[in-house]
This record gives sequence, structure tokens and C-alpha cells, in this order.
Amino acid sequence: MSQGCPYCGNELQKHEFFCADCGQDEFICYRAVKDYLRKHPNSNAMQVANATGISVSKILQYIREGSLAVVEQEGRRARQ
Ligand SMILES: [Zn+2]
Repeated sequence: MSQGCPYCGNELQKHEFFCADCGQDEFICYRAVKDYLRKHPNSNAMQVANATGISVSKILQYIREGSLAVVEQEGRRARQ
């Protein structure tokens, strides 16, 4: 059984944080990233992207705009 999108109730693909419709919405994307970082403060952009389904470039854009604090910045790789 798939669970619904937390924002609009649409059906989700597995591992999706929200549905494709809501993925078009800047505000919802931003909120999802911020939410994820609150729960997982040491995540890098790649981890956030994997968890939320939002593109890395969009997440890096939020970071560049200074609205998000992520440990690993653009151009750096997380250590294994
Ligand atoms: Zn939705």
C-alpha cells in the first residue's frame, strides 16, 4: 500500500517525499528540504536529494541563497 502525499493526498511512488505535482511547487520543495535538514542536520545535498526527491541543483540553489545550512557544500564530497 502506498501512502499519500502529505501536501495534497495524491498517491506517491515509493520513496517519494511528495507527489510530482507538489514537486513543481517551490514553496513545498523548500519546506521539504528544510524539514529534512531539521531532522537530519548533518546531511549533505546528495542525501537530501535522495531522501526528498528534489534535484541536487535545486537544493544547492537554496543553499547558495543562504536559506539552508548543510554541512557539505557544493564541490565537496562527503567522506565514506
Ligand atoms: Zn502532492
